[in-house]
Amino acid sequence: MTNTNTMDTEATMSQAIALYKSGCEMVRITAPGTKEAQHLAIIKKEIINKGFDIPLIADIHYNPKAAEIAAGIVEKVRINPGNYTDRNTGKTNFTEDEYQKSITGIRKRIAPLIEICKQNNTALRIGSNHGSLSERIMDRYGDTPLGMVESAMEFLRICRDMDFHNLILSMKASNVRIMVYATRILVKKMADEGVDYPIHLGVTEAGDGTDGRIKSAVGIGTLLADGIGDTIRVSLTEDPVNEIPVAKKIIYYFGQVPVEPTSQLFRDSFRNPFEYDPRASNKTAIRGCNQFPLIVGHKDNKAHSADFSELQILENNSPWDIISDNRNTEAFSEEKELSGLVFDGKLKTSVFEFRELFNLLHQLNINSPVILKKDYSGIGESDMVIQIAIDFGPLFVDGLGDGTWITHPEVSSEKTTELSFQVLQASGARISKTEFIACPSCGRTRYNIQKSLQEIKAKTSHLKGLKIAVMGCIVNGPGEMADADYGYVGMGDGKVALYKGKVQVKKGVDEAQAVDALIDLIKENGEWVDA
Ligand code: SF4
Repeated sequence: MTNTNTMDTEATMSQAIALYKSGCEMVRITAPGTKEAQHLAIIKKEIINKGFDIPLIADIHYNPKAAEIAAGIVEKVRINPGNYTDRNTGKTNFTEDEYQKSITGIRKRIAPLIEICKQNNTALRIGSNHGSLSERIMDRYGDTPLGMVESAMEFLRICRDMDFHNLILSMKASNVRIMVYATRILVKKMADEGVDYPIHLGVTEAGDGTDGRIKSAVGIGTLLADGIGDTIRVSLTEDPVNEIPVAKKIIYYFGQVPVEPTSQLFRDSFRNPFEYDPRASNKTAIRGCNQFPLIVGHKDNKAHSADFSELQILENNSPWDIISDNRNTEAFSEEKELSGLVFDGKLKTSVFEFRELFNLLHQLNINSPVILKKDYSGIGESDMVIQIAIDFGPLFVDGLGDGTWITHPEVSSEKTTELSFQVLQASGARISKTEFIACPSCGRTRYNIQKSLQEIKAKTSHLKGLKIAVMGCIVNGPGEMADADYGYVGMGDGKVALYKGKVQVKKGVDEAQAVDALIDLIKENGEWVDA
């Protein structure tokens, strides 16, 4: 997605072409109003004049008229069902009659858009975002995965009633687990209603750097491993071109794997895939670290912050049994008394062998704790980051696994330990530092969000347990920063607003002073500790 001002033809066109050249197959551009929606025609023409044929997607919030204009110009329009027609007025306690009237209202407002999409063969993405649901949906379902799904299903049913099927749906959240559970519920709901429309995947506000890459790979990877997903977007608070190699690495991981039809998806699963349902293992083999997954570090490096060293486990083989073949059921049965298991992943796509292992342990009624181990010899560091995220992250999203043990002969123990902590943080299994929620920015952003995010991370990363949101605009930022403790939100040229939870406490702060003002706010609330 471009992050330029949509009215800046040259900048937007150049960025769209750069994204396309780096390997993306469609480009999304924000259209906050009718003026920007009209301007998409000029951008499209200029892109064609430069010799490129790039499918464009218009990103619409709050403005049905902009959606209708864009639908006559671009290949796809993305609308957010939480803010397409509904406006928040503070109302609660919707009666059934009021609820149904509101849906009738949506039907009237969206009908012209559907007709234009039909006439122009324009696709429509119904994209729910956690944090921007309508108050009607919030009143009935809360800000929940089910609320996200119902919000989209209402629109889907209207489209189907109007015999419009050029549809794709998405459930995005900055919280990986919420994004995963909402998307799985969506697949189930669609199957229950006898339909199966394509699904777009993405972790929104994933942030930047390795954290942002890991968060995206864990969320998208979990669902691709389920066989869910038709298009993906990695969103990073960086130059958008940086998103494409990450997306390609995620796709590459699954390149050789036959994908099950989604209708088969939950048939044999022993666990509840729709909410956090951790495997209860007996933690007898884990000393002093039984509340969250532990991390094993290299044996050759004593100075690291891992919970266990490789040496401790190798030298004291009991109580850990190290295995590398999850099909050896006989051995498992004989070893029922084993108190801890290290499973050494061997496949390129270990997420599948790890999942198979836990299925088998369930069948054999073995509750031993399991450390998941894998060696990444011969794999470059940037590829390794994505592979680790997809090998391990989906297991911890689903509450499977009691530890990680990652090795690479040329990567330090500090680094593999740090990557383990990042995967556990992204999957919500173990919080070891400040959680950052940062939007990728778009044409609505009017301050240097990338610089601000880096500065905020440098100064506040040690505040373990705090969630800080860094958002591009005041229109969508406050809603989409979900349950952040503090918000740093763009509100105009070079200006920022600060939030404590959902409450705006300062506005119009110059961006040059805003990071210090955020730190002062954290101090005023007694939540600052020195690094
Ligand atoms: S929150 Fe960020 S990505 Fe979303 S509309 Fe605002 S600036 Fe754009």
